[in-house]
Amino acid sequence: MSVVTHEANDFYGAKTRQRCAQCEGPLHYPFLHWSNQLALCARCCADMKNGLFADFVHVIAIKKLHDLGYKLETLTREQTAWAMERQKKKQAPEPELINFPMERK
Ligand SMILES: [Zn+2]
Repeated sequence: MSVVTHEANDFYGAKTRQRCAQCEGPLHYPFLHWSNQLALCARCCADMKNGLFADFVHVIAIKKLHDLGYKLETLTREQTAWAMERQKKKQAPEPELINFPMERK
């Protein structure tokens, strides 16, 4: 996989021979090039960046699990919003601990 930034590093002539695999539009520099079957335009890269990287991490995590011998196991991913909400709840201080009286009668 490589980023083709201009004509000088468009070694395979992808800009003229290929279209974006996602939107099927023409390629303009810069674009992502991965083999002669996959090229993504900059706009689609921007649209896909969070989901694509999360998908890479997801696949790699499952592969590592399988490599450790857990061949029948898999991992599912929570939606990001749910995970962020759960994280916020974990970080919120417990009100009863903050208001706990320090002096005894
Ligand atoms: Zn595109």
